[in-house]
Amino acid sequence: MIERARTLDVGDPLARYRDRFDLPEGVIYLDGNSLGCLPRETPTRLAKVVREEWGQDLIRSWNTAGWIAMPQRVGAKIAPMIGAKSHEVIVCDSVSVNLFKLISAALQMRPGRKAVLSEPGNFPTDLYIIEGLEKQGLATRRLAPRDAIAGALDGDVALLLLTHAHYKTGELFDMPALTRAAHDAGALVLWDLSHSGGALPVDLGECGADFAVGCGYKYFNGGPGAPAYAFVAERHQDALQQPLTGWMGHQAPFAFSDDYTPAPGVDRLLCGTPPILGVAALEVGVDLIAEIGIGPLHSKSQALSEFFRQCLRERDVALDLVSPADPAQRGSQLSFRHPEAYAICQALIARGVIGDFREPDILRFGFAPAYLRFEDMAEAARHVAEVLESGEWRRDEFRERSAVT
Ligand SMILES: *Cc1c(COP(=O)(O)O)cnc(C)c1O
Repeated sequence: MIERARTLDVGDPLARYRDRFDLPEGVIYLDGNSLGCLPRETPTRLAKVVREEWGQDLIRSWNTAGWIAMPQRVGAKIAPMIGAKSHEVIVCDSVSVNLFKLISAALQMRPGRKAVLSEPGNFPTDLYIIEGLEKQGLATRRLAPRDAIAGALDGDVALLLLTHAHYKTGELFDMPALTRAAHDAGALVLWDLSHSGGALPVDLGECGADFAVGCGYKYFNGGPGAPAYAFVAERHQDALQQPLTGWMGHQAPFAFSDDYTPAPGVDRLLCGTPPILGVAALEVGVDLIAEIGIGPLHSKSQALSEFFRQCLRERDVALDLVSPADPAQRGSQLSFRHPEAYAICQALIARGVIGDFREPDILRFGFAPAYLRFEDMAEAARHVAEVLESGEWRRDEFRERSAVT
């Protein structure tokens, strides 16, 4: 198995990119879908921004180093990777905050309709933000299981909010079909791309999506708490009113006027001063993913996950797959159900195989194709088999829960 893996690595056109990341020794990292790895260039870039741009040039850097335009510049680099035009994407805030802005804006664009439709089991923050708006009397939250979503789109639905690749199972929604169904019902659509952006092809333009948000610290390798990105289709930009009317989203922030006039286009999504260190780190990650290319990344991601499954099969590992078996139907991850998933995950981490656990019984492995090797798949599968066979996960130390999983 390991020989076959090494042969695949030799033939892997993306193999050379592994060296562009600073990876810890002795770790097989299958959690790049939760926190992406550190690009080698990031510390150098951050040191320059801190020492030169901040330390020496100080406030002049807003102009001389182009700080003021960084949210737009990095947004424009993300745009082609999600099928958007460069002026349709901006980097700002967190996914959660961007959800609040865009759900609010969508509700205002559909007067007389109050329902925001999503699915039960969507990523919690998506559901909580709708709930917060409901408590303010601005929305009603409506949840329908996957197969009932199209049927739940009635004349009260202002917005359909879904996550393209499900965080637990990796299952993909049919973006074009659901976008069409929502539009046919007179609703707008907001896609959460947190688990697909930077790993899978997404074409917001072709499917006619209205809004989207996505994460900077997962497949884009922007670092912990990296700023998120938000997309507003060109046709909605002039009418868009978002409630966080901070000064950076003003048409002329430095006119210091008493009254708010939104900036043209997607710039009005800005609220406060952009976190330049965070955006600079994100830019390195985005540049690297753009250089490798979404097409090659997606092909390799599918090959890695299929090879991992094959290695598990050959070792007679009986784990219950909850991700779609067809790689075309899932994101860049494989999730398995096991009643002792938590302890198994901890036992694997102790062996240097970092995946993650998701409540209540999901063992999740993410395959960030930019830096993983086929050899890692064979080795990870060996560790999974050994952990299960040895029963070492039964140790007390692996069963105690910690705060962040
Ligand atoms: C990771 C993730 C988020 C993260 O939201 P933040 O506010 O940036 O922490 C949101 N939605 C989904 C689907 C995610 O997977």
